[in-house]
Amino acid sequence: ATILGIESSCDDTSAAVCIDGEIRSNIIATQAIHQKFGGVVPELASRAHQQHIIPVVEEALDRAKINKNEIDAVAFTRGPGLLGSLLVGTSFAKAFALALNVPLIDVNHMQAHILAHFIDDPKPDFPFLCLTVSGGHTQIVLVKNYFDMEIVGQTNDDAAGEAFDKTAKILNLPYPGGPLIDKYAQLGNPHAYSFPEPQIPGFDFSFSGLKTSILYFIRNNEKENSNFVENNLNDICASVQYRIVSILLNKLQKAADQFGIKNVAIAGGVSANSGLRQMLTDLAERKGWNVFIPQFQYCTDNAGMIAIAGYHKFLNGDFVGQDTAPLARMPF
Ligand code: ATP
Ligand code: FE
Repeated sequence: ATILGIESSCDDTSAAVCIDGEIRSNIIATQAIHQKFGGVVPELASRAHQQHIIPVVEEALDRAKINKNEIDAVAFTRGPGLLGSLLVGTSFAKAFALALNVPLIDVNHMQAHILAHFIDDPKPDFPFLCLTVSGGHTQIVLVKNYFDMEIVGQTNDDAAGEAFDKTAKILNLPYPGGPLIDKYAQLGNPHAYSFPEPQIPGFDFSFSGLKTSILYFIRNNEKENSNFVENNLNDICASVQYRIVSILLNKLQKAADQFGIKNVAIAGGVSANSGLRQMLTDLAERKGWNVFIPQFQYCTDNAGMIAIAGYHKFLNGDFVGQDTAPLARMPF
């Protein structure tokens, strides 16, 4: 089966073609416009999706070397995300499916981040635990089957991606700061400064206290030395990154122990982080885990993950009607 996947939940417009479970193209148009505002502006995001969606879909079909008449179903991100952004992809997908007279498949964006693990080999066996860390979510998910997933832990406040982006803002780095913190961290000492680890029960997370302690740490040091950030950027980034990653991995380890699970995955934009990838690989070796880390292009938002999720729903005959509306909040 040939599935067209459409993603438009936040600030990336993306289209992908999946043929019999294999991703043949994955085109992503990112929106540079948000940089000068230091964060995503929803109204601008919707307008940019509107401009990008047709050329992105055309390029995805071209790269996959298929004609639109070969598409067997259209899969789209129904939620969660920004409503105006979701509306562009949803409306496009509905119109395209109607015109081609093919079924329509709705996909949950957070499930799709996890299902990105079924694009490449090796694919995880069920059940596995997935730490999903992105711009809006931080979850530990027990994945029992493709669409049978249970959130066993999540953040009480900021997401891990927000912890990176807000720290970057404090350090005067441009948005989105996560990848920049990663870059500078690779040149710094992760133990140069020590930031506190919050004591949160169970498998839940909190990152807002860390953000505040970073803010005060920078302010106090800048009082004595106005070039503090400039002179110590690599060490600050390495130390912050070390703390965020160790908070994530300590909870993941606790959950894996409690559930007795040795198949462990990471997903979402923050799973592109080199510190997380390295520390997880080391931890997995100590614990004897089988660890699954996505290719970079499938970590941040992409339609490849929507197309693969759509493919597995297609196999189940799980379709939706033309009356389907996007959902800003969408539980599993
Ligand atoms: P959600 O999936 O929760 O709806 P989103 O779709 O906006 O949110 P993603 O695109 O999955 O989020 O991830 C974006 C986040 O990932 C941003 O916060 C960004 O800073 C972070 N990120 C991307 N690359 C890295 C990296 N190398 N290191 C740290 N953070 C990163
Ligand atoms: Fe995402």
